[in-house]
Amino acid sequence: MKCVTCKGPAVIDIRRHNANFCVDHFFELCRRQVMKAIDDHSMIAKGEKVLVAVSGGKDSLAVWDLLLDLGYEADGLYIGLGIGEYSDTSGDHARAFATERGLTLLEVDVPGRFGYDIPSGSRAARRAPCSACGLSKRHLFDEAAIQGGYDVLVTGHNLDDEAAVLFGNTLHWQTDFLGRQHPVLPARDGFPRKVKPLVRLTERETAAYCVLRGIDYLVDECPMAAGNKHISYKLALNDIEKMSPGAKHSFYFGFLDRAAALFEPEAEADREELHPCASCGAPTTAETCAFCRLVDRAGGEVPHDDQPSAVPVVLGTTRAGAKQ
Ligand code: SF4
Ligand SMILES: [Zn+2]
Ligand SMILES: [Zn+2]
Repeated sequence: MKCVTCKGPAVIDIRRHNANFCVDHFFELCRRQVMKAIDDHSMIAKGEKVLVAVSGGKDSLAVWDLLLDLGYEADGLYIGLGIGEYSDTSGDHARAFATERGLTLLEVDVPGRFGYDIPSGSRAARRAPCSACGLSKRHLFDEAAIQGGYDVLVTGHNLDDEAAVLFGNTLHWQTDFLGRQHPVLPARDGFPRKVKPLVRLTERETAAYCVLRGIDYLVDECPMAAGNKHISYKLALNDIEKMSPGAKHSFYFGFLDRAAALFEPEAEADREELHPCASCGAPTTAETCAFCRLVDRAGGEVPHDDQPSAVPVVLGTTRAGAKQ
């Protein structure tokens, strides 16, 4: 197996590009794909203040590493969700990455600050764990980006993630979600700009990138993921991709090019109803936002700092590498 560029020994084959790559040219490919995503969708301008949502897994550490390599200055944000040993280990990986490179990692500890963890909080709030978790993360990402004065919030969603979400939204014709499924959500109505620079790379490629770069990421799946439909959509798309290399790419980018605009008016109509949450000030369509309602029902499930959730709370901030 030879590298398509230099004819040296290849370490990875990428069937949708019909090519093999050596280590250096694979890194170059990853950087090129991230740059193209950033340029094509005007994700980040040079000099902007960037915050990367970091879970300790391969995608978030790969995107942080790639952005730094491309010359962006980026801090990390880690949310402790209280999912037992999984959260302990994921936090260790995020902190080790930041400390080894002298980077700034902000931290928010959900049990310590709000008095619930994902397993007990989702039961108390009668929500599926991934629903309570996704809601908590989205709210806390937005809050950290706005309070920290960041221009843009980066997440590690890759092509497999986006194709699987599109598959689910299309299966159920969730047209309002389809109208919002874009690799860039602009800053507006109190939300920060959110971008997904890994949309041109697959999960297999971000894992290979981390292994070849020596990035120590958390390999274990979240124990709450069992039964998650998103995972079954990914597996179904993997089967299709095996028979038809490039299918995920053409499904997702074909949607962006040819169909996404059709659904935008519906998403826009939803946005017009937004106003500040009476409790925390975050944008919402109800009197209080879904996150405040979750905290009302789930808070108190575990011991916490007794900080009032109704006012913006200063983030627990860890400067990695500095004394805490
Ligand atoms: S699998 Fe579900 S509960 Fe676990 S981190 Fe992901 S969204 Fe949260
Ligand atoms: Zn090469
Ligand atoms: Zn609120």
